[in-house]
Amino acid sequence: MLLPHNPNAFTRSPLDRAGHRRRDAAWLAAALEAPETRLLPFHQHRPFVIEEGDVLAPGWLNGQARARIAPADAPLLFLGVDAEGAAHFAIAVPDAAPLGDLGRFDDMRAAAARLSREDIATIGPAKAVFEWHAKNGFCANCGQPSAIAEAGWVRKCADCNAEHYPRVDPVCIMVPTFGDKCFLGRQRAWPRGMHSALAGFIEPGEAIEEAVARETLEEAGLRVREVIMHSTQPWPFPHSLMIGVLCEVEDDAETVDTTELESGRWFSRDEARLLIAAKHPDAFCPPPFAIAHQLLKSWCMG
Ligand SMILES: [Zn+2]
Repeated sequence: MLLPHNPNAFTRSPLDRAGHRRRDAAWLAAALEAPETRLLPFHQHRPFVIEEGDVLAPGWLNGQARARIAPADAPLLFLGVDAEGAAHFAIAVPDAAPLGDLGRFDDMRAAAARLSREDIATIGPAKAVFEWHAKNGFCANCGQPSAIAEAGWVRKCADCNAEHYPRVDPVCIMVPTFGDKCFLGRQRAWPRGMHSALAGFIEPGEAIEEAVARETLEEAGLRVREVIMHSTQPWPFPHSLMIGVLCEVEDDAETVDTTELESGRWFSRDEARLLIAAKHPDAFCPPPFAIAHQLLKSWCMG
């Protein structure tokens, strides 16, 4: 389903996931041989990219390249089918050498800032699923080794028959607002001047709104009065779902928890516009491919 109003990177993939093909071994084998099929290598969770002039693009190979670049048991993921019917796969290669100097394996965050919106949405799931495979080689039920199944979307345990599905971690990410100003925090490890939305994992037993209220109170000492859902974003670092909200708080008397944040700061709407335009004199916010940027933009431009 297309959601044209979702402003976030990693959404609106041009591919049909074609989930019904994941168990169809004959179809998948034929797809890998088809000349129009596209295969993207990943190495250590980095996508293979090609730079031509100022343009960065995924380094798609054809499906038949699989045997030349990876052993038969390398994790393979069926991403879906494009509008012309071409199947797209990603493969986690243990060795970068067979790709030679055709391109390079680039950090996903760095690549995401430069790839097209369609490309990011197409390859993002592979980053998330390969991260999950790398950390889940053993059955969480019985401890025996598990194996990849269903075109990369399941791990199955031959010992106890348990099936394990790629995990998605829900995270609430919020911009607290009070009247005509908003509150952004900064973590110690961030580059100097960077400020962003508050965020935290949603815990078992919590509604999204409850997690927003808890995290805002814990991190900034601000009491949430109203939660306004904005948008969500699949975020493959490593495999989160960011749930973006704006939240109106009761007052502007913050108490920053310095174990979580280095500091926090109120920005007027005009200042927020400068952050979005990267023209603020002493602060900056995350880039447009991050939902924090879109939340802030929506608040100060809306
Ligand atoms: Zn098991």
